[in-house]
Amino acid sequence: MSVGAPRPPSSPPGAADNPERWPRQERRPARDEERTVAESADWRTLWRLWEYLRPHQRLFWTSVALLPVIAALHMAQPYLLKIAIDEGIARHDLSRIDRVAILYVLAMVGENGSMYAQLYAMQLLGQRALLDLRDHIYRHVLSRAQAFFDRTPVGKLVTRVTADVDSLNEMFAMGVVSIIGDFVKLLFIVVALVAIDYRMAGVAFLSAPILAGSAELMRRGARTAFRTIRAKIGVMNAFLAEHLAGMATVQLYGAEARVREQFRVIDEDYRNANLKAVSLDAALYAWVEALGSIVAALLVWYGGGRMQGGALTFGVLVAFFEYVQKFFVPIRDLSAKFTVVQSALTASERIFAVLAEKEALAEGDEHAGPLREGVRFEGARFAYGRGEEVLRGLDLEVRKGEKVAIVGPTGAGKSTIARLLLRLYDVTGGRVTVDGQDVRALRMAEHRARFAIVLQDPVLFAGPLRDSITLGDPAIDERAVQAAAQRVRLAPVLARLPAGLETVLEERGTNLSAGERQLVSFARALSRNPDLLILDEATANVDPETERLVDEGLEELLRGRTAVIIAHRLSTIRRCDRIVVLHQGRAAEVGTHDELMTKDGLYARLVRLQYGAAEAAAA
Ligand code: ATP
Repeated sequence: MSVGAPRPPSSPPGAADNPERWPRQERRPARDEERTVAESADWRTLWRLWEYLRPHQRLFWTSVALLPVIAALHMAQPYLLKIAIDEGIARHDLSRIDRVAILYVLAMVGENGSMYAQLYAMQLLGQRALLDLRDHIYRHVLSRAQAFFDRTPVGKLVTRVTADVDSLNEMFAMGVVSIIGDFVKLLFIVVALVAIDYRMAGVAFLSAPILAGSAELMRRGARTAFRTIRAKIGVMNAFLAEHLAGMATVQLYGAEARVREQFRVIDEDYRNANLKAVSLDAALYAWVEALGSIVAALLVWYGGGRMQGGALTFGVLVAFFEYVQKFFVPIRDLSAKFTVVQSALTASERIFAVLAEKEALAEGDEHAGPLREGVRFEGARFAYGRGEEVLRGLDLEVRKGEKVAIVGPTGAGKSTIARLLLRLYDVTGGRVTVDGQDVRALRMAEHRARFAIVLQDPVLFAGPLRDSITLGDPAIDERAVQAAAQRVRLAPVLARLPAGLETVLEERGTNLSAGERQLVSFARALSRNPDLLILDEATANVDPETERLVDEGLEELLRGRTAVIIAHRLSTIRRCDRIVVLHQGRAAEVGTHDELMTKDGLYARLVRLQYGAAEAAAA
């Protein structure tokens, strides 16, 4: 399999063909998701979001420019009403009423038309920016080192790209720039109220400090609530991703009830987190409405009294009522938009936390040409994270044209050797060289292009079978695919399939048998004509006919090739030029099968233990 090939979200980039064996997927507890990401200031988060809007800023500024137009047209309406009452109705001037009515309709049409244009521009901006953002996250994830995937649950990454970005989408859908519009409207209303009657305006503004205080309280509460919500979504997705992928195991071991219970707990946690946010939101909404009514009552009381005394015209009182109503609409809207913005900012924090993950292997700058001499491990040491050392000064050489078998008990570090060779990880001591060049100094893509790996349980991808062989590499043409299929004995399988190479595979190729999947992965490896083949031999039993095909396919795959084989079958081990026995992080024994059997050391013991005395003696 080509290591750099993109994988679907259910299998993260760089993840193993067989999650249980290659590279081991550390299943961190879902709690990992609960880690609070570094809380950043709102303005800093907004500024980072702006980076994605900047390329489309013409849409942004168009949208912003329309806001004062909308506000002005909106504000003109109560004023026109006042003129109609005081100068038209009160003075029985019908022609004036006609003209004001036409202006009123024009103002309304203009306001709604501008609102449509403004929202459309905003949504378009949002969609374009979010496309870029999703692309950026995925690109970033694709270039992370394997260690990043060891500690990051798949569900968490899926959440970042989908639910969290969706939360930003909602922010644009709500027309969040119209928050600025709401503020502009408020400003216009305040000016109009003061200009019409500053004493009445004073009564209306009594509510302002109460409103500001409640909004701030809400902001703090909402941020905490939304952080919890986002964490819970991540936990839920991580749980789902893991358990859906492992559904067969869950069902076969009758673990449905336990798993359902675990899911219910996670689901309830999520609901509770949502309830907190919803109740805060509802409370603020109701509170703003209530304040609006209180202010209206105060105005009736105070304005009515002043009208009695002749200090106020009826038109002014009506205009005031209209303005005050309009004053509370944007405030109410602001509270709703506030919720969406808080949710989006929290999602952004988490997205940016993933983007801040720097874990990547340093790219080298030396060219990696075709393999000339061979690869060497020179005193290589390695530990996963802060774990125990797996390799403790390993010396190992694979010369060009040689087939070397790596054997050892489970957990000895056999797969680790392959991962280091492919630079999925870097050694923590010593070095790994190819033709004398340290692999860390080489261009990663060129270095990896010299290898092909065949894994125990290869992952195939949904779509035409051919694509699972080529993995979209345009250099692998029809002839190369056909030739590879022929040589590794995939051709008889293709002949049996309804549409041959065009047969559509299910996710991970589950509609093929294990043996058939193996053959496809052989074809994938062979079609690349690699300089060095890494083979993690399958231990799974297949039917005798497929086993014969796999054996023949393997023979062809290995013919005249340099190979490192993590061997399990004695017949494969014997086929190798040299056997390296791994023990306590070092090459404890090196030699051919016969040499090592004669030595009667670790290898001989391993063979007797694994393959039984009779088979060992026969071998
Ligand atoms: P097997 O024959 O069972 O596949 P192996 O010899 O290939 O075993 P490795 O997969 O190389 O063994 O693992 C060597 C050691 O490193 C094991 O103790 C394992 O627990 C540990 N290990 C492997 N992968 C990781 C990882 N991603 N994070 C942490 N520890 C790991």
